[in-house]
Amino acid sequence: MKILSFNFLRPLLLLGVLFAVGGITAHQIVYSRSWYAPLEVVVYPINADSSIETHNYINTLSTDTFAEIDDWFKTEAKRHKVPIYQPVKVRLGDRVDSVPPPLPVDKGVLRTVMWGLHLRYWVWRNTPDNDSNLRRVRVFAAYYQGEDDTPLAHSVGLQQGLIGVVNAFADTRQTPQNNIIIAHEILHTVGASDKYNSFGGPEFPYGYANPNREPLYPQRYAEIMVGRIPTSPYSSYMATSLKSVRINPLTASEIAWYD
Ligand SMILES: [Zn+2]
Repeated sequence: MKILSFNFLRPLLLLGVLFAVGGITAHQIVYSRSWYAPLEVVVYPINADSSIETHNYINTLSTDTFAEIDDWFKTEAKRHKVPIYQPVKVRLGDRVDSVPPPLPVDKGVLRTVMWGLHLRYWVWRNTPDNDSNLRRVRVFAAYYQGEDDTPLAHSVGLQQGLIGVVNAFADTRQTPQNNIIIAHEILHTVGASDKYNSFGGPEFPYGYANPNREPLYPQRYAEIMVGRIPTSPYSSYMATSLKSVRINPLTASEIAWYD
């Protein structure tokens, strides 16, 4: 009897894996956006620069650190008249001892797709628990000491797999801004899009919390999918906490928030 060679089997296996992943993904996308019960979010901290300072910062984290994210989602759901009291429930997960694969510098389609598969493989290998992922978002928070005026690599949120990768500063003063980034990436996983203009500022009108405000400037709030408060058509500043951030109607419709 002839035995199928491994070279022939491998593409079939890979196809099988892709179909299985695809099937799970479709279910995740439906369940995560149904909003009938709180969407569970687990934040797994990573000491990304292996420093003692970052280690000590991670020791200060608890589920309480992220409570303002839960509260902010509650307030926004109420403002948008969505009939759910608590849209998300964020908790601290176990530490992860590996760093996620970095986003490719060259953002060609093929490289990005390969990176996405690599990331999902990494997530599968490094999720420290066996809970179901059908209705939960996994956020891998890579903490760094960082230097002033040197931005960290971009954070990402993927609807495929409900996965967020957040690069954040390991500094207590930075925690409220880290929570903005975590909320932003959670929203990507449930279908929200970025609303930056080509200069990285808020795009008018979609990147404004209140594009109908009179006078238009200065705006009082940042839209979450930009995180910056516009002060003129050409200037804006980063919101310092979720207290000055809102979800605008476009983002609300992207995440299937209907009243
Ligand atoms: Zn984004």
